Amino acid sequence: MNISKEFEFDMAHLLDGHDGKCNNLHGHTYKLIVYLEGPLIKEGPKAGMIVDYGDIKKSVKKNVLSKIDHSFIYNLKNKTECEIAKILIKEDKKVYPMEGRTTAENIVKEIFSLLNTNIPELSRIILKESNSSSVEFWGLDYD
Ligand SMILES: [Zn+2]
Repeated sequence: MNISKEFEFDMAHLLDGHDGKCNNLHGHTYKLIVYLEGPLIKEGPKAGMIVDYGDIKKSVKKNVLSKIDHSFIYNLKNKTECEIAKILIKEDKKVYPMEGRTTAENIVKEIFSLLNTNIPELSRIILKESNSSSVEFWGLDYD
């Protein structure tokens, strides 16, 4: 059995060097679906639950959304993106640095790692960059 909870947030980014329009600064309203699995709690106020939905919401807000929602997410290893971030930081705007290009594939891994240590029941997450594009990650990696 899996339970899931869905969240929405906005971020700006660019994929420097992309051979299409993603080379330009743009934004997405991302959807994040968090899946949890585990045994049902046996006793107490949360009996019959895997994890209280309210607790999932609190954890995702604290560990993910507070850091990335309405931020400029950028690749620490890219000079152009770091230059843009530098200006934003100077102007006291929200930025989120990560190692690697800010593709949906890399962002989903980043979000998984932010949640994994705080939600032991985490089984997988889905990140939707648009209504038709999504990526699913369950902790296994190919590199
Ligand atoms: Zn994009």
